[in-house]
Parts: sequence; C-alpha cells; structure tokens
Amino acid sequence: AIAPVITIDGPSGAGKGTLCKAMAESLQWHLLDSGAIYRVLALAAIHHQVDIESEEALVPMAAHLDVRFLSVDGEMQVILEGEDVTGEIRTQEVSNTASRVAAFPRVREALLRRQRAFREEPGLIADGRDMGTVVFPDAPVKIFLDASSEERAHRRMLQLQEKGFSVNFDRLLAEIKERDDRDRNRAIAPLVPAADALVLDSTSMSIEQVIEMALDYARQKL
Ligand code: C5P
Repeated sequence: AIAPVITIDGPSGAGKGTLCKAMAESLQWHLLDSGAIYRVLALAAIHHQVDIESEEALVPMAAHLDVRFLSVDGEMQVILEGEDVTGEIRTQEVSNTASRVAAFPRVREALLRRQRAFREEPGLIADGRDMGTVVFPDAPVKIFLDASSEERAHRRMLQLQEKGFSVNFDRLLAEIKERDDRDRNRAIAPLVPAADALVLDSTSMSIEQVIEMALDYARQKL
C-alpha cells in the first residue's frame, strides 16, 4: 500500500508552516515544505545569475537542483550545493523570485518527482499551493488553510518584528497581495482549493484552534 498524505494548501502567511509542523509531530509523519524547493531554486538562479525570466534556463537547474533537507533538533535545515541556506531562502527577494519561477509549467514538471519522493511510510504532511490538486491528487485528507490578507500581513509583521526586523505594514500587505495574485492567477497549478478539500478560514482562529480542528478532521478521514 502507498503511504497516506495529508495536503495543506493555501496562501502565504495563513499558518500552514506552523500547522504542518504540529501535525507532523503529533502523527510522527514526514513533512514536505514544497515552497522551500521553489525558494531554493530561486536562490540558485540568483547565485548562478540565471535569467529568472527564462524557462529554458531554469528547467535544467530545477532538474539537477542539489538540495538536501535535514532535520536538526526538530528544525528543518536547507542545504543548497553543500551550503546552509535556511535563512537566506526566507528573504523578500527570494519569496518574490520563487513565485515567478513557480509560474513556469516545465519548471513545476521538473520538480514533481522530487516532491512525490517524500511520500513514505508512515505518512506525509505536504505543505504548498498545489499539493491537493496536482502533486498528491489522491491524498485521503486535504485541507485548504486561508485567512484574510490583512490578517496574514499582520502575522507576518509580528514574526519579522520578533526576529528584530522593523517592517512597514502597508508594504508587507502589498507584497503579500502581489505574490498571492501571481499564485492564484497563473495558468498552471494555480492556488485553488481541491474540490474535496476542507476549507479552513483561520482569520479569527488561534493557531491552537486550527491545529485541533485539522487533527480532528484528519483522524476522522483516515
Ligand atoms: O510556501 P512558500 O511561501 O514558501 O512558497 C514560496 C512560493 O513558491 C509561493 O509564493 C509559490 O509561488 C511557490 N509555490 C508553488 N507551489 C507550491 C509551493 C510554493 O508554486 N506547492
């Protein structure tokens, strides 16, 4: 039998990362952060000065991407070409570049097998935009985690402030909207709930409530 998958899709800043980590810990399942793969590809393109407008140039990079994900004390470490890029892939520049390279169909195609390889016993929690629609359409449990863009910008601002960055709320909101528009409106694998996904709007929920609801739903479906 093939290992079960729980897909968690949704826009940036909805709390998917926190939810997926909590579910993976609670169920003791594997975790796929598919956004990190697109981020690493974006960073590799920046490092190697590959034209991020050129699908031609990006496809071979995507196919041969030398990336490893390590779990160190429960935290994911991202290694690109032997170098720790865990922090570097989270910058605003990389976020924006990632959503641009992710719009190319053949780039996405080149990353499919790599993502599906994460599906292993006892199960996988898959975090992304198209986990339930494209990468794991047969997943027994699909959740689409949403929140208003203002709430997501607000959460992101608090996160950044905690790390000691000073941030401008309006700029953050504009950037979040721009990236979401690109993810929602692209021709391939757009950000959209799978027909059989539970849509959870976390705008006025605490993260604890979200985790509890998602785990209850998953247990009931599995
Ligand atoms: O989830 P995260 O914000 O790290 O993803 C970065 C970007 O990668 C997203 O804005 C999106 O364009 C792209 N992405 C994607 N499909 C996924 C995961 C991420 O297109 N499954």
